[in-house]
Amino acid sequence: MRINSKWNRRGFLATAGAIAGTLLSPRKLFSSNGKVAAKGVSVTGFGSTGNPYEELGVTTLINCEGTMTELGGSLPHPELEAVMATAGRHFVSIPELEVAAGNRIAQMLKLSDAYSALVTSGAAAAIQSGLAGILTGSDEALIRQLPDLTGMKSEVIIQKSHRNPFDHQLRSTGVKLVEIETVDELRAAVNERTAMMHFTNFANAAGQIKVDEWVKLAKQYNIPCMNDAAADTPPVSHLWDYTNMGYDLVTFSGGKAIRGPQCAGLLIGRRELVANALLNNSPHEDTIGRSQKVGKEEILGMVKALDLFLAEDHDALAQEWQGRLELISNEITKVGSVRTSFFVPDIANHVPHMRITWDESRISLTPQEAAKLLREAKPSIAISHGEGRPGLSMNSFMLQPGEDKIVATQLSKLFREHMT
Ligand SMILES: *Cc1c(COP(=O)(O)O)cnc(C)c1O
Repeated sequence: MRINSKWNRRGFLATAGAIAGTLLSPRKLFSSNGKVAAKGVSVTGFGSTGNPYEELGVTTLINCEGTMTELGGSLPHPELEAVMATAGRHFVSIPELEVAAGNRIAQMLKLSDAYSALVTSGAAAAIQSGLAGILTGSDEALIRQLPDLTGMKSEVIIQKSHRNPFDHQLRSTGVKLVEIETVDELRAAVNERTAMMHFTNFANAAGQIKVDEWVKLAKQYNIPCMNDAAADTPPVSHLWDYTNMGYDLVTFSGGKAIRGPQCAGLLIGRRELVANALLNNSPHEDTIGRSQKVGKEEILGMVKALDLFLAEDHDALAQEWQGRLELISNEITKVGSVRTSFFVPDIANHVPHMRITWDESRISLTPQEAAKLLREAKPSIAISHGEGRPGLSMNSFMLQPGEDKIVATQLSKLFREHMT
């Protein structure tokens, strides 16, 4: 018995060690050559045609509008899909994974030690969680109490021209937005209820107080300061520019130009604030952010997306995108009166764009009608019109290989059909 039990114990330990060795060795787990094996699954039933969208009767489209959430944001890199697939093969502690991923992201972005990051379900979630963390700190009762602000600060200062639909995610915490326009108005607005100063990066040109001055003013008053830069990569340096400027919190979309998981975003910020944001977010229950669940797949996917995005040759990409537009331009300007011009928005969707105009007395189409007909045709093309600009405008950074030629053909065809 004694010998036996000793043997059992030793055997158990040895076996346990052997099992642990197997389990903990990622190489053995994922495959013999260290590559992740995701291919070779045959799909039966729904999805077996290879186009589950069409199986539902939903038309896929060619995207000339850019990284629009309403159109599906962006398309992931195949390596990102592979990493997300492996994420789904294991259980982990989500809070532990969040901390590890956040620290890795801060390292990848070469942020100072004062900063970390949190993967959220999007930039909108990052805005809400970031502010929630500022309001509650790590106080569990206050976390449960939101959006009832009794006992907390209750105001966020914002420039009038910076108001936008995403400030709903500030208001959802219960705070009141205090609008100001000038530095004097800002100074008058600061009081003991002021929780945060919010900046909308794309509105930099519209406001009187610019991005660098805003954070300096916040420092003077020792008020935490957030910059919503959701759609403002490229340039890639924006990922660290604003924390280097001193912003306490900065938000980005994962599912726009970074081409991360569609339901992911980043809250980059001071460690303490990021930690308090996580306390207000899923997986923690009875929190305002429990509805903004982030899965292990999105967390690992966001790290991988940044890994890929940082390694990208961004100048070469911009050239490729410009080349696609020029290909389309060369083709469509063969049609009488069609003209093109190129521009790059200063901020947000800072990528090559093309404006397409024509003489409506020679081609009897308004830009609205043209966009509608292109969207309704097969293949379906999503292209922008309006927003105070004449004609149609498009970008090419969300086009897939070969789609530039299809767009050139479809546009030319449409214009020719409507020549008077
Ligand atoms: C897209 C966007 C958001 C929201 O980002 P999600 O990642 O979709 O949640 C917030 N602010 C601005 C300015 C945006 O463009």
